[in-house]
Amino acid sequence: MNRTVYLNGEWLAETEAKVSVFDRGFLFADAIYEVTAVIDGKLIDYPGHAARLRRSLDALGIAMPVEDAELLTLHKEIAKRNGITEGLIYLQVSRGVQDRDFLFPETMTPSFVMFTQAKRVLDNPKWKTGLSLQTVPEGRWSERQIKTVQLLYSSVQKTQAHRNGFDDVLFVENGFITEASSANFHIVTAEGELITRDLSNALLHGITRGSIVDLARQAGVVAHERAFTVEEAKSANEAFLTSATSFVTPVVSLDGQAIGTGKVGPVSQRLLEIYIREQLSRALPIAD
Ligand code: PMP
Repeated sequence: MNRTVYLNGEWLAETEAKVSVFDRGFLFADAIYEVTAVIDGKLIDYPGHAARLRRSLDALGIAMPVEDAELLTLHKEIAKRNGITEGLIYLQVSRGVQDRDFLFPETMTPSFVMFTQAKRVLDNPKWKTGLSLQTVPEGRWSERQIKTVQLLYSSVQKTQAHRNGFDDVLFVENGFITEASSANFHIVTAEGELITRDLSNALLHGITRGSIVDLARQAGVVAHERAFTVEEAKSANEAFLTSATSFVTPVVSLDGQAIGTGKVGPVSQRLLEIYIREQLSRALPIAD
C-alpha cells in the first residue's frame, strides 16, 4: 500500500507519517476518532460525523485541530489524493504530545491524523445472509486487573481533581472504594489493623500492594483483604496509597474531611520505612 496520509498539516507517504511515542493517544488513549464512508466519490452522512467530532473534542477539552470548512476540504482532498471512490476516511485527534503524566495542561496542541481505506462498502455479503451474534457481559472497561493504557478516565478525573485543589481521586463503585487513579488505597483501623480491597477485576493488582500486605503481616500487623466503604475510610485512623514509584504515601483527608488526626499516621510511616528498607535490601543492582 502506498497511501498519502494527512498528519498535522502535512501530506505524507504512509510509511513516512510518524507520531511521537509520547503522544497521549498512545500512552493514555487520550484521543477521539471518526469514520466517514465514501460511496461513488461522495461523503456519506458527513455533517453528523463532523458534529460528533466537535462534541467528543469539547467533552474532553481537546482543541478542534482545524476549522469546520477546512475539515471538509481535507476530507475531499484526502479522497482525491488516494483515488478513493468507495471506502472510508478515518480521522483521529489526540490531546497531543507531552512527557508521560496523568496530569495535562489546559492547552495543548492536538495531534491530527487522517487516512483512507479503499473498500467495497456497497456489496456486503452479510446483507443477504445476516449475522450470528454471541452475548457477553457488558464490561467496557471493567477489567481493571489488566494494566492497559486505557487511562483516559483516570487522567481526566485526576486533572479535574487537581484543578479543584486535590492531589488525586479515589474511585467508588456501589459505595465501595476500588483504588486511586494510579495507586492502590488502604486504610488502618482504630485497632491498628490494615484493610485493603481484595483482588478482583475491580482494581489493578498492585505489586506494591502485595509487598506491603506481606511486609505488614511479617511485622505483626493484622491485614484484612476485603471491600470497604467511603464511610469506613473516612472514619479510619489512617489511610495510604501504594504504587511502584510512590511506595507508601499517606492520605490525610478525603472529600475535605480529615482522616484520623489529619496528619501522617504511625502505621503508614512505619510501613513506608519497612518497605524502603526491605526492598532496598533485596533490590537488583543495575551494574553487573
Ligand atoms: N492501581 C492503578 C490503577 C495503577 O495505575 C497503579 C500503578 N500503576 C497501581 C494501582 C499500583 O500498582 P503498582 O504497585 O504495581 O505500581
